Amino acid sequence: MIIAIDGPAASGKGTLARRLAARYGLRHLDTGALYRACGLAILRAGGDPDDAGTAVDAARTLDPALLKDPAVRRDDVGQAASKIAARNEVRQALLQYQRDFAAQPPGAVLDGRDIGTVVCPDALLKLFVTASLDARAQRRFKELRESDPHVIYDAVLNDMRERDERDSKRSVAPLVAADDAFVIDTSNRDADDVFHQVVDLVSSRMR
Ligand code: C5P
Repeated sequence: MIIAIDGPAASGKGTLARRLAARYGLRHLDTGALYRACGLAILRAGGDPDDAGTAVDAARTLDPALLKDPAVRRDDVGQAASKIAARNEVRQALLQYQRDFAAQPPGAVLDGRDIGTVVCPDALLKLFVTASLDARAQRRFKELRESDPHVIYDAVLNDMRERDERDSKRSVAPLVAADDAFVIDTSNRDADDVFHQVVDLVSSRMR
């Protein structure tokens, strides 16, 4: 059983993915953390995420232990991730890891940008979770403010807009809903409400 969840940053897809994995006893992979871990490795080594060779090298030599490093959540790491994620060779280097993860029993919930379109096109259920730019920037702002009281809302908003644009306009695996994905707008909904709707969807798919 594979559930594919795609959507932009701070749309609520990660929370939903974790809850679904717990509900159905599935494994969970936050695929954004793979790209972030590569970005973090580059920044720590003083490298340039815009450099093709550096990006591909980081993806090919990725240490999966880095996925758990709290520093992957930083905003500069998210920007670096989005830059390297636009390169086809980087995506190819990370593709097999994601497919192998999904293929292990009893199944998995994967969240990212291209899970329903590229990584797991045969998933049992595909969701595209989205929300308005403002709603997502507010969520990310509140989250960042917990560790940094000086964070500025406009900077968070601009950062998110820039990343959305790069992720949606890239030529390889752009952020787009799969044709057979169920689209959920979380702008004015709470996480419980969305979760229960998806549990109903899973039940009807399994019948
Ligand atoms: O989901 P998250 O915001 O952590 O992802 C960080 C970046 O990694 C995204 O902005 C996107 O560029 C990239 N990404 C991707 N494909 C995925 C997951 C993430 O291109 N499946």
